[in-house]
Amino acid sequence: MLYGGVVIGNYKLTNNSIVVTLNENSCREIYKNEENNLSTFSEETFETKPLKKKITQTREIEQTVDLKSSRKIVSIGRGINKQEDIGIVEQLANAIGAQLGCSRPIVEDFKWLKPERQVGLTGTIVAPDLYVAIGISGQIQHAVGIKDAKVIVAINNNKNAPIFEIADYGIVGDLYEVVPKLQQALQAVVNK
Ligand SMILES: Cc1cc2nc3c(=O)[nH]c(=O)nc-3n(C[C@H](O)[C@H](O)[C@H](O)COP(=O)(O)OP(=O)(O)OC[C@H]3O[C@@H](n4cnc5c(N)ncnc54)[C@H](O)[C@@H]3O)c2cc1C
Repeated sequence: MLYGGVVIGNYKLTNNSIVVTLNENSCREIYKNEENNLSTFSEETFETKPLKKKITQTREIEQTVDLKSSRKIVSIGRGINKQEDIGIVEQLANAIGAQLGCSRPIVEDFKWLKPERQVGLTGTIVAPDLYVAIGISGQIQHAVGIKDAKVIVAINNNKNAPIFEIADYGIVGDLYEVVPKLQQALQAVVNK
């Protein structure tokens, strides 16, 4: 993948040394297509010499959420003004049984949530049925992390935010007004 997964490069190998890495969830279409099954992408694909040494290392990490396998994700970005306000979005996530995700500044700059909740190029590449981006501009490094989401909903007070270019549904408005109303409406449907 090049430019954070925006384009896929094709390469012809000209020597015997190659290192290939793939992001999980990054090529779902290839996994699905049996002719292109990843099993064809094995050592036999290349003329390889026998491995001199194979090193396998597995590291356990303490994790409370697995966004990769989440079917619904509600994510927050820098549009949230302070940490206490995350509760407003959590209520919405709970109403629809979604996991809470976020953009990088929420983890790196503010340290309000743990890295396991960061969605994007340097976070987790996700592929949920529903992704709700709240107060997230949709910069490329975030957008590549959600390109396999089936339905993207964006709530942003800037109608020109790039997230609206990739969203299936968009609400232009202040998240502090929109999110509580949406939560109440969805809760009413769930309670019916
Ligand atoms: C090498 C590299 C890797 C990166 N990896 C990642 C990554 O994995 N994931 C990631 O997310 N980012 C990543 N980034 C950072 C990325 O470039 C963006 O800076 C980041 O995604 C922006 O986060 P944001 O959308 O929350 O913030 P902003 O870009 O500041 O957007 C905030 C948005 O909130 C809206 N807003 C403000 N107030 C309100 C309100 N009251 N109601 C509604 N909307 C409001 C604004 O209109 C704006 O669109 C990476 C950057 C680099 C250089």
